[in-house]
Amino acid sequence: MSFFAGIPEAAPIEVFHMNNLYLQDTSANKVNLTIGAYRTEEGKPWVLPVVHNAEVALANDESLNHEYLPVLGFDAFSKAATALVLGEDNPAIAEGRAFGIQCLSGTGSLRLGAEFLHSQCKMDVVYVSKPTWGNHKLVFKTAGFKEVRDYTYWDATNRRVDIEGLIKDLEAAPERAVVILHGCAHNPTGMDPTQEQWKQICEVVKAKKLFTFFDIAYQGFASGDADADAWAIRYFVSQGVEMVVAQSFAKNFGLYNERVGNLTIVVNDKSTIAGIKSQASLCVRANWSNPPAHGARIVHKVLTTPALRQEWFDCIKAMSSRIKEMRAALKGHLESLGTPGTWTHITQQIGMFSYTGLNPDQCDQLIQKHKVYLLRDGRINLCGLNTKNVEYVAKAIDDVVRG
Ligand code: PMP
Repeated sequence: MSFFAGIPEAAPIEVFHMNNLYLQDTSANKVNLTIGAYRTEEGKPWVLPVVHNAEVALANDESLNHEYLPVLGFDAFSKAATALVLGEDNPAIAEGRAFGIQCLSGTGSLRLGAEFLHSQCKMDVVYVSKPTWGNHKLVFKTAGFKEVRDYTYWDATNRRVDIEGLIKDLEAAPERAVVILHGCAHNPTGMDPTQEQWKQICEVVKAKKLFTFFDIAYQGFASGDADADAWAIRYFVSQGVEMVVAQSFAKNFGLYNERVGNLTIVVNDKSTIAGIKSQASLCVRANWSNPPAHGARIVHKVLTTPALRQEWFDCIKAMSSRIKEMRAALKGHLESLGTPGTWTHITQQIGMFSYTGLNPDQCDQLIQKHKVYLLRDGRINLCGLNTKNVEYVAKAIDDVVRG
């Protein structure tokens, strides 16, 4: 007899599974376009110099220790994170209607937000874009949401946002349904709504009394401009929309394993904040009790020290520029090879991913025949490309497209 008898084996988590297959592959020409992490031109992870310098300063700061942080985290960090996403001079901050809770990276922020909305606001239907980041559905289901529904997002034929379908689906959503919106650099499509389309989305969210849940995992990393990447969120705030925003500092600070995140909350009535904070404290207490300090101290130091903040802006520009160069190089090679199909979407999409439009068979061929690892929905991480392998990847794509 075993208490553990009969537990079925779950399907592997695709992105980590694919990354492992890549790591196990012994081919010299293998290319990893799977996991969403930045790589340098040399194919290496990058510790941002500004992060390294902040870490050295923190290590030498004798006033710091390893005591517990408060349940809701390092408040000065959360203030800096909230100001980063809403803009320093956002009236919601000045009016005391916006605050942050330190969470475990983007995922922990989503999880806290989901649990809080379910337990305190009695919300149990959530809408996610079709397609979306693989973890959204799991997080909301695990947090108790009864229904996770899709809203139309992607027009596969024209490789653009299907705004008509999106609006139609949100119009049909029940009141108080939660809508997850990717703040910038939509994962996996890399295609964001235009400003005009965001305005339409905001209108329907307000008219239908839907609850806005922004997920922003690529602020600054997407375009190289942290303000531009937060445009949609700031627009919704300017329209009086109450919301929560899950912020991740994994990509834009290269702090993947430090789990630095923040849940920004914007309310219309600041008298609700005491209740929110006290109930959120119980949610956190039952999950991780108190967040880790190291990464939050780094982000706080960088964001609140003008010279370091400027250095960080330079770092995110360097990362986003390299990605843009790789987009142009991949598209250029495919076009000069005359690869059937159109490839302009590669440079129209933003962030680290391209939704290539390759079908699952073509993806399997890329992996098996050419050792180019990607997700089976055709999503590639541009960061895995560099000047040495981009032509090889283009030729491999050309081969599988021609069949
Ligand atoms: N949301 C989206 C859309 C993402 O792409 C990611 C990172 N892959 C996250 C949230 C959060 O990731 P993390 O928990 O590592 O911050």
